[in-house]
This record gives sequence, C-alpha cells and structure tokens, in this order.
Amino acid sequence: MRKKIIAGNWKMNKNHTESGTLAQSIVEKVSGIRGVDVVLCPPFTSLSPVGEAIKGSTVALGAQNMHWEKEGAYTGEISANMLLTLGCQFVILGHSERRAYFHESDEIVAKKVNAAIQAGLTPIVCVGETREEREKEITKEVVKRQVTGAFRELTADEFEGTVIAYEPVWAIGTGLTATSEQAQEVHEFIRRHIAGMFGSDLAESTRIQYGGSMKPGNARELLAQADIDGGLIGGAALDAGSFEGIIRAAL
Ligand code: PEP
Repeated sequence: MRKKIIAGNWKMNKNHTESGTLAQSIVEKVSGIRGVDVVLCPPFTSLSPVGEAIKGSTVALGAQNMHWEKEGAYTGEISANMLLTLGCQFVILGHSERRAYFHESDEIVAKKVNAAIQAGLTPIVCVGETREEREKEITKEVVKRQVTGAFRELTADEFEGTVIAYEPVWAIGTGLTATSEQAQEVHEFIRRHIAGMFGSDLAESTRIQYGGSMKPGNARELLAQADIDGGLIGGAALDAGSFEGIIRAAL
C-alpha cells in the first residue's frame, strides 16, 4: 500500500516572513495527521523560516529546483548539498515551468535527478504533455520520453523512493483539471513504463502524484484512483485551509 504524498509548490510566491507564517498555519492544521506525507516547497529564500516553522512536526521540506554540480562558478545556482544542510528532504525537478521558461531538457532533468539522488535528496520529477500534444494524441509518447529521459541512467536501487508527478501542462494554473479517468489512464501508463525500466515490484511501490489545478473540491475523486498516490499542488497550496482540505481528501 503506497502512502499518499501531498506536496505544495509555492513557486515564486511569499517572502521569507510570509512563508514562515503560512508554514506555521499549515503545521497547526495538519498536526495529528499521520496517514499522508506532507511536503512544503517554498522559494529558496524561504527554506530557512519554513524549516524552522515545521521543526518537530511531520511536515517535510522540499525545494523547487537545484543545480546538478556540487559547487563552483554557477552564479545564481543552488546545490543539492545546500538544500540538504537547510533540512530539505525533497526537490522538485523538471517542472513544466522550468522546462518551458528555462529550457530544461530531458538531459538536464536527468543530470539533476542523478545529482539529487547521489546527494540523498528525494526528487519529485514532473512530467506531462502540453495542450497541443494532447490534441495530437501523443500524450503517452511525450510522457514516456520524459520518464525514460529522467531515469535512464539510474539503477533500480538508485531509483527507489523517487516520486513522479504527472502534471498535464494545460491543467497547471488554468483551473482546468484532467478528469479522474484521463489522469488515471496516464498514471497507469507511467507505472507500466516504470515496471519495464525497473521491474514490477519497484513500479508498485513508486508514488505518482497528480498535479494541475487540484483543489479540495476535486481532490477526493482524483486521489481515489488506483494509480494516483498524491498531489503536487500549486495555487491551492498558498492557502492553508485549501491545502488542508486536499490533505484530508487523501486520508
Ligand atoms: C504546479 O505548479 O505544480 C501545479 C500543479 O499548479 P496548480 O495547482 O496551480 O495548477
């Protein structure tokens, strides 16, 4: 039985003071919930105050990106080790906004995934098709390419524990959500593809989140699908009450 995992991707929102307050409020709302893993992924500048706010709680800390090198002349970049020393356990990699605005290719995502795993961080690797790709009926082809690209250099042991987030790009921040049937179909496809890469035992234990306008009102149905093991939440993660609603829908 896979434990559900709900992660909040705060994107470029909340300064360090606002972030501490939001994290504190989420901790209060979810204290006592043990059946779901909860992760907060604030901007880099807020990792420290959010880390402080969640201390002693069951909420975990994650980042939204990292560089693949350990250190060096990479102005503006952050390494896996810097994230670890701030208390991060997770890092979102390959988000569609990074792929679209910062030209992150499958090769770059793979380098980051490898570096995160070597350092001891758990990657949350995002994959998903654009609206045009869905209309052309190449969703599975695109997702298969992204999954293969991200994990092709890993052994099964290295891959174990990695989280995948299926996020149809057309559903992110748009208010459009994939139907539970559409999402389940792709999740099942991803799990089968992981079975082909790493064997069926690992595929069965791998958690695959859905992301794309998930809210308290649609979360329960999505999370009830056989292959949907949690959510990566953008907009609704910025409101403690909405985020709590999604976490409770996962119980
Ligand atoms: C995301 O950015 O990962 C996301 C799912 O955003 P939203 O929930 O706002 O669609």
